[in-house]
Amino acid sequence: MSAGARKDPAAVETEVREKIHLEILKRTGAYHANDHILLPSGQHTSEYIEKTLVTTEPSFTEGLGAVIAKHFAQWPVDMVLSTGPGALILSHCVARAHPSRPIVVYGAKGLSGGKRRVSLPVEFQRLTRPGTKVLLIEDLVSTGSTLNLLINLVEQLGALVVGIGCLWRRTSVDLDNRPVFSLVSRDFPTYDPDTCPFCKKGVPLNEEFVRRRHARRPSSVQEPKGA
Ligand SMILES: [Zn+2]
Repeated sequence: MSAGARKDPAAVETEVREKIHLEILKRTGAYHANDHILLPSGQHTSEYIEKTLVTTEPSFTEGLGAVIAKHFAQWPVDMVLSTGPGALILSHCVARAHPSRPIVVYGAKGLSGGKRRVSLPVEFQRLTRPGTKVLLIEDLVSTGSTLNLLINLVEQLGALVVGIGCLWRRTSVDLDNRPVFSLVSRDFPTYDPDTCPFCKKGVPLNEEFVRRRHARRPSSVQEPKGA
């Protein structure tokens, strides 16, 4: 191989790091690859990530959180902000490992008039002052809509977004050129059944993830009526 054709060492390092992080996500059972998977949208794909399983192994989550914290270590951070249970667990791990010893707060996700909304509990609002340096943490970024709402929320309070850290980012997501660091940056192609290359090859279709959604209900218990 000529010197010119050799890959940039920094790019190779990123590639190796991503492989390690993918392997960690695979060990938690969250990441599935080399398969032929039916998505809830009806599209087919070869990779899938089960969001709720991403943070089930504390030592892995702590290790991944430390990598994100190390990336942002040179910037002072007053507060780490996230929404959703998975992102909150990760944000705790990031805050614990960041040299600024930032506090951890979280917003609530909801819908208002059919539109997504994020809100910050009143108790956290007084901790967010003009100029507060905020690091946003997300587990998986697939459309970027939650992150964009969080950015608006922070700016509305006069605070500053110093960066965005996440486990997984779909590369197609546009975040307005904000400083984003993701452990894995990857887009997996999805196909219409008519044009799916795996269907063409006759690979059996894995319908497990869609079936699970429709056929299985979450375990739940309820207080008896009239108690
Ligand atoms: Zn297919």
